[in-house]
Amino acid sequence: MEIGDFRLEQLSEGIFEVSQAGSIHKIRDLGKERASESVTRVGLDPVLIDTGSKVILLDAGLGMGLDNKEPEPDTSNIVTNLDIFGYHPKDISAVILSHLHYDHVAGLSYTNKTDRITATLPNAKIYVQKIEWEAALHSLESRPEVQGMGYEPDDLYRLVADGRIVFLEKELQEISKGITVIRTAGHTPGHQIVRIRRSGQTAYYCGDLIPNELYLNRFVSTKIDTDYIKARKARVLLMQQAWRDKATLLFYHSMYVKAGMLVRDKNRGFVLKKG
Ligand SMILES: [Zn+2]
Repeated sequence: MEIGDFRLEQLSEGIFEVSQAGSIHKIRDLGKERASESVTRVGLDPVLIDTGSKVILLDAGLGMGLDNKEPEPDTSNIVTNLDIFGYHPKDISAVILSHLHYDHVAGLSYTNKTDRITATLPNAKIYVQKIEWEAALHSLESRPEVQGMGYEPDDLYRLVADGRIVFLEKELQEISKGITVIRTAGHTPGHQIVRIRRSGQTAYYCGDLIPNELYLNRFVSTKIDTDYIKARKARVLLMQQAWRDKATLLFYHSMYVKAGMLVRDKNRGFVLKKG
């Protein structure tokens, strides 16, 4: 996909099942295993932007298969997916994190042969809202650790200590020419989305504010957001703005339709344009 002269790619890690408790695992064989009622199926698609001079990632995936002694080393992850599109981890100059839930950040680091936590992308600066980091630290006091879709900041301490993480304090900030983060909160206290604008064309990376097209329904009821009211308001504002901008929406957790433009249906709700 192109936005002006920016090249955009969605790096698919596959389809996953999420239990009600928030644990997440990969589905190896879609035909064989059948989702039970207590699990939700989601895709997982970090976005790569090549501006011509910089390569920027939006969220970093689960990073399965990256660790030393990993039982399944050939799992699809940020490194294998960069390779598919002809990039090396050292080519990435920046990562913008929508928020700090495990399924968006775990790919940023891995355990190396000497059991040391190591940055997957050695040259990348990582951009996150300051209040999101604070929320992740707070969560350690109040919530039991769930391996999956909640906060697990342990591996991030290394990246923070190494000065790789840039903590953003403004609601709106341009990270690189044409690439702007917008803090929405709602899903988490410091959730941010990314606007990509070039030569009159626009795309929005929605993070978990609109994880997939099901969330375009303004009446959708969701338990995934920490502040449901704020999330719903931000979601509606984003849809209105994206519709006015004739923008492409990029989804992180979609199983099938990973991107699209909005049109209004007969009830003046927003749906994805067909075809
Ligand atoms: Zn997520």
